[in-house]
Amino acid sequence: MLYGYAGHTLRIDLTTGGVEKEPLKKEWVDDYIGGRGFTAKILYDENPPGVDPLGPDNRFIIAMGPLSGLFLPASGKTHFCTKSPATGGYGDSNMGGHFGVNMKYAGYDVTILKGRAKVPSVILIDDDRIEIKPAGDHWGKGSTAVEEAMKKELGEDFHILTIGPAGEKMVNFACISHDFGRQAGRIGIGAVLGSKNIKAIAVRGTGSIPVFDPKGLLKKGKETYAACRAKPGFLGWTPEGTAGITNWCNDVGALPTRNFKTSNCDYADDINGKAILKELKITDKGCFACPIPCGKYGKARTSKGSVYVEGPEYETLSLLGSNCELSDIHGIAYANYVCDEFGLDTCSAGAVVSFALECFEKGLISEEEMGIDAKWGDLDSIVHILEMIAKREGIGDTLAMGVRDAAVKIGGDSDKFAIHVKGLEWTGYESRNAPGMMLGYMTADVGAHHGRCWVLGTDVANAVGGNKDANVHDLISQGADFDAIPKADHKNVVPLVLKSQHLRPAFDILGTCRLQYMEIGLETHYYEELYYYATGRKLDFEKDLLVLSEKIWHLNRMYNHREIPGFGRKYDYPPPRFYEEAIPSGPNKGHRVTMEVIEEMLDSYYEARGWDKNGIPTKETLERHRLSA
Ligand code: SF4
Repeated sequence: MLYGYAGHTLRIDLTTGGVEKEPLKKEWVDDYIGGRGFTAKILYDENPPGVDPLGPDNRFIIAMGPLSGLFLPASGKTHFCTKSPATGGYGDSNMGGHFGVNMKYAGYDVTILKGRAKVPSVILIDDDRIEIKPAGDHWGKGSTAVEEAMKKELGEDFHILTIGPAGEKMVNFACISHDFGRQAGRIGIGAVLGSKNIKAIAVRGTGSIPVFDPKGLLKKGKETYAACRAKPGFLGWTPEGTAGITNWCNDVGALPTRNFKTSNCDYADDINGKAILKELKITDKGCFACPIPCGKYGKARTSKGSVYVEGPEYETLSLLGSNCELSDIHGIAYANYVCDEFGLDTCSAGAVVSFALECFEKGLISEEEMGIDAKWGDLDSIVHILEMIAKREGIGDTLAMGVRDAAVKIGGDSDKFAIHVKGLEWTGYESRNAPGMMLGYMTADVGAHHGRCWVLGTDVANAVGGNKDANVHDLISQGADFDAIPKADHKNVVPLVLKSQHLRPAFDILGTCRLQYMEIGLETHYYEELYYYATGRKLDFEKDLLVLSEKIWHLNRMYNHREIPGFGRKYDYPPPRFYEEAIPSGPNKGHRVTMEVIEEMLDSYYEARGWDKNGIPTKETLERHRLSA
């Protein structure tokens, strides 16, 4: 008996319609525990080498962890994995809500899709009953509209994930949507589902999950819930969620502004968490069993109409807001809604729109191509560009490839301000004076994603306090002056980056949200204890879980090495803007990272990881982790 697991893998061949249910492999459980551990292993082993990310043979994997669905705090995360159409390498994306929980109740820890349905279809998973049905009128419709319609059709107890029209058109940054506002946003995960002709997956699970010590688990779960609510950070985090960081980012010169040209704006107060509470919010919204719900559901009112929307979160505020110079909170929320309906990742969408606006400003995209006299900060322009992308119309077809590939087609000097790593657009932290954060973005397996590493606080503390242990929040409360931040030291960032890169997968492996640990400081012993009561297995957070995280980093690096022609060191460089242009304004004015620093950081990082000078894991490193090339 595998306590903590539903016990099965579901395999669906969309080409033949074949469905197989097989026992969950014990070696996956023993060696990779769950969630992101499972998906990394399965993608490496089962995805055919060299597969086209948008071809039928690319696997689309859904996995949950041993804590998923057990009524433990924030145990509702679902992990998706595939070969990314954005990067051509390893790709995964994580989503809150209630979908994965119900997949486990239906009996499946892992689901693997392959093939392509003959006609646009939806997958229905009702415990043991699996059906692939024509999508009918749902094809072509917006994500929320389809979720609503399918719930009416099937019943409220079905949990639905959908793609929008952008996923159907295989836009490289199409997302998956669920729960009227939750997304698995990154790496073009929605485009892969679209390439398989799958519009939606609906699941209803009515089974139960065997646990090793139900009474002990219930007691510890309640204790953990109470511990989260008692944390001093609870009251700081929950009211505004991620949007609460907006002013801090602006103050320390990390808020991407005008396509990452600069890192500070003069309207942060108009687009921050407080503005959301004052102007938009109707209610808080959280994922399954979350003690610290961070979602804000509200109403945006604009000249284009009034809409209900969840968010905007910080990434959306920064990338569709300041990065596009949009300073109206209602406008940002409306653009957020447009992305959600079309099924576009708001992070990449904001980065691509700001890239397009800069191309237009520089004459690299004409007014005729753009179809509008596009302006920074203009909601009409932003929505127009988003629509063209989602429908792949005109220049939208080029922009739908993402900034890296669009720059190749647009030409001029646009590659200099195409802000990405490995083909994935950079998210909401300008890092020219944050070397640890920059290194984290540079070396992430999926490309420039903050979800892989976040050490900005320590970077800033190092710069303004000269003390690597300084807490930047303390510095602010002590009245630290951020008007002119000194150049940050890059010398000792590698251990910090590695620690953050190893911590983050731990929660994706277990199947919980990481924010209880990251944002309010829930201690790791809770996770060890919950894991024990759920599975009957002992787990040392540092010696077992973080070591597994490290193993996954090597495995995914090997996947990129195998799949991306010529993969190596050059794929870890940041965009030229960051080393060729100094920040022109704000507290980090005058700072840029130099190539010398970039090379030095990469040398140290590769050495610490046990990779060669080209960034490829050495034979010894692979052997140490019982991996083979
Ligand atoms: Fe979901 Fe936010 Fe709670 Fe995490 S903290 S589980 S993202 S509501």
